Amino acid sequence: MFDLLIKNAWVLTMDESFTEYKNGYIAIKDGKIAEVGENKENLESREVIDANGNIVLPGFINTHTHAAMALLRGYGSDNPLKVWLEQYIWPVEGKFVSYEFVKDGTDIACYEMLRNGITCFVDMYFYENAVADSVKSAHMRAVLTTGILDFPTPGAKTPDEGIQKTIDFIKEYKNDEFIYPAIGPHAPYTCSPSTLQKSMQVAVDYDVAYHIHVSETLHEVEDIKNRYGDTPVKHLNNIGVLNDRVLAAHMVHPTDEEVELLAEKNVKIAHCPESNLKLASGIAPVPKMLEKGVIVSFGTDGTASNDDLDIIGELSTAAKLHKGYNLNPTVLPAKQVLAMATRDAAKAIRLDKKIGSIEVGKYADLIIIDINQPHLQPLFDPYIQIVYSSKGSDVDTVLINGKVVVENKEVLTVEKQRVLSIAKKWREKILS
Ligand SMILES: [Zn+2]
Repeated sequence: MFDLLIKNAWVLTMDESFTEYKNGYIAIKDGKIAEVGENKENLESREVIDANGNIVLPGFINTHTHAAMALLRGYGSDNPLKVWLEQYIWPVEGKFVSYEFVKDGTDIACYEMLRNGITCFVDMYFYENAVADSVKSAHMRAVLTTGILDFPTPGAKTPDEGIQKTIDFIKEYKNDEFIYPAIGPHAPYTCSPSTLQKSMQVAVDYDVAYHIHVSETLHEVEDIKNRYGDTPVKHLNNIGVLNDRVLAAHMVHPTDEEVELLAEKNVKIAHCPESNLKLASGIAPVPKMLEKGVIVSFGTDGTASNDDLDIIGELSTAAKLHKGYNLNPTVLPAKQVLAMATRDAAKAIRLDKKIGSIEVGKYADLIIIDINQPHLQPLFDPYIQIVYSSKGSDVDTVLINGKVVVENKEVLTVEKQRVLSIAKKWREKILS
């Protein structure tokens, strides 16, 4: 007897050989995938979902965001980066960031991510205990890091305090099925070599991931060259913190030599194309990184610089952006792009044994995309249709750990009216 059975599904497993079941089923027991294959008779299950021919995929993994910044969506947009940060974002964060701010902001973000088929995300912010509480009540999965910086933050007065808070957080959640703690030194330009090295020691000691922003802007590249005599990736390598634990967000401006180094050290990338475009940071050399074998996944970044939390949007943007920029329509094909947002993203966060594809033994983190809509028909190739024609809003059903959290396009675990009133409350506070 299974707990839940999804039948009549077009299953795109996203496993290494892109196995598909055109009239497939997925049987779930104890939160995990117990069986997957072509429909068969006589399967007994407590609950049954008839997918009605719709597409079932592994849930999307958003490998870089600052969820609580949902409260700053659209605030001060279209200004130069320095003005935006110094006159809008940082003053508000300095004044308001607290447990309440982070919990409320993350609730809004979780609602939106669930609605768009994101089942797992990587966060870097402050008060990660608030993020964890929000993730738990939304019944999501997340890799959580406290941003560690050399100057005082809303979370810690010194980098050492930030590191200690991270260690405490890791100890609290080390064996959790939903919260995966990691360490988050903010960036090479905001963390001294010593802070970066101490953080790596924690990552090694506690066997967790190391999440950091790297080579986001040309300004950063110049700054690091002036301070340390080398470009950011080489600088990280020089001080001994470049290895397979590293999930580097952005990576817009690596040199060819640095791309080789990323491949050699098995560094993972969170590519954030929409944020990089909106903040005018540049265009990351994704085809080159992929060609060298670097694992590249997708991040939305925070909503203040995007301004949504929709991985399908990132896929579509990235697939077209790199074709246009490289004058080559064969780079980033739809199938590869979808793999980057699922199984490769799971590798990027070191959870590929647990999530990222529809395979027996993995957690049942699944989404059903409603393809019975005029804008998604006729359907010749499901990968192409999802990347180029669908939107997050076409996700009809979301399951996390075998539990239905979105049904008929309605989020069940985060209350919509409450999220709307939170947003209104904070808008008034920020404007006053
Ligand atoms: Zn970021």
